[in-house]
Amino acid sequence: MSKIILTGDRPTGRLHIGHYAGSLRRRVELQNSGEYDKTYIMIADAQALTDNADNPEKVRQNIVEVALDYLACGLDPAKATLFIQSQISELCELTFYYMNLVTVSRLQRNPTVKAEIQLRNFEASIPVGFFTYPISQAADITFCKATTVPVGEDQLPMIEQTKEIVHKFNAVYAPDKPVLVDPQALLPEAEACKRLPGTDGKAKMSKSLGNCIYLADSADEIRTKIMGMYTDPLHLQVSDPGHLEGNTVFIYLDAFARREHFERYLPEYADLDELKAHYTRGGLGDVKVKKFLNNVLQEELEPIRNRRTEFAKDIPEIYHILKKGSDAAREVAAQTLSEVKQAMKIDYFEDAEYIRSQSERYAE
Ligand code: ATP
Ligand code: MG
Repeated sequence: MSKIILTGDRPTGRLHIGHYAGSLRRRVELQNSGEYDKTYIMIADAQALTDNADNPEKVRQNIVEVALDYLACGLDPAKATLFIQSQISELCELTFYYMNLVTVSRLQRNPTVKAEIQLRNFEASIPVGFFTYPISQAADITFCKATTVPVGEDQLPMIEQTKEIVHKFNAVYAPDKPVLVDPQALLPEAEACKRLPGTDGKAKMSKSLGNCIYLADSADEIRTKIMGMYTDPLHLQVSDPGHLEGNTVFIYLDAFARREHFERYLPEYADLDELKAHYTRGGLGDVKVKKFLNNVLQEELEPIRNRRTEFAKDIPEIYHILKKGSDAAREVAAQTLSEVKQAMKIDYFEDAEYIRSQSERYAE
């Protein structure tokens, strides 16, 4: 069986280091590993509109921002298909048919959707489109028969929902020869990367919460954000013992610091374990740790920012890449949709055998 990657992002803002740690960095590695037959990367504009219906300009503007972030990180249009969700109308058709396989109470139980409804103050009036976006996400994942979906932890309930739809669809419509493919989520290995917290210490760095370090941030912006970061409120004096739990600076170091960073910027410590031990013992100030984190992140983000600036010099080329990718994705979606419709017995005009059998029934 082919090994196929599908993943994507909502164009609700530029991408941040949470995306990078949670999914982007991994995607680039997988793309370059040569182990996958296809890589599809989707800009989920239709999904972004489910909670930004009154702000289409925001979604439109962020298409190119997200695409620039992709290219800057190393996603390569020669190896990966970069496309825009709304341009693949087949996804709407798939969503419509999958809706029959999911109950309202099942959607209501989705913990990520629950949290997002709260965050957006949607309790009293949830748009139907937003409520059902996990079903449209199943269409996104299944149209290309994706086997592997590299995502952050918040996406696990969506993959679970997709699996249920795949199993139900195959059981009901294609018991002998499955049409849809069961996808697997691929989470980052490091705990810190699964759900990177915001610079304010909130549970998740998220475009919607404004607590992000963006991949496109300038060196100064990065430094200012790091210096203002949430650490340990009990660590008032350098000599006080510090706490690591919920300490965002150390969580970011977990996600990004490598041994060679210590050699370059903080040679008095061999690795993060030694730094942590000193911090919890007392006698290590937050400013020193933040300066180290700043060095680490500047080193990681500078080449990305520079590549972004280069790609931004030819914006029409970015749209050209997305158009080509969308055309290619659409062909694949049309093929899957045709298999789906055949399995569901709604392929009336393609089934000459059936038309003949019906005509015979009437001739009797
Ligand atoms: P929004 O607030 O509009 O939902 P977002 O910041 O949550 O934006 P998404 O576009 O929803 O970003 O997520 C894209 C991908 O990035 C998903 O795979 C998601 O799991 C991952 N991701 C987003 N935020 C984080 C984070 N803080 N840590 C790890 N992964 C993340
Ligand atoms: Mg999100």
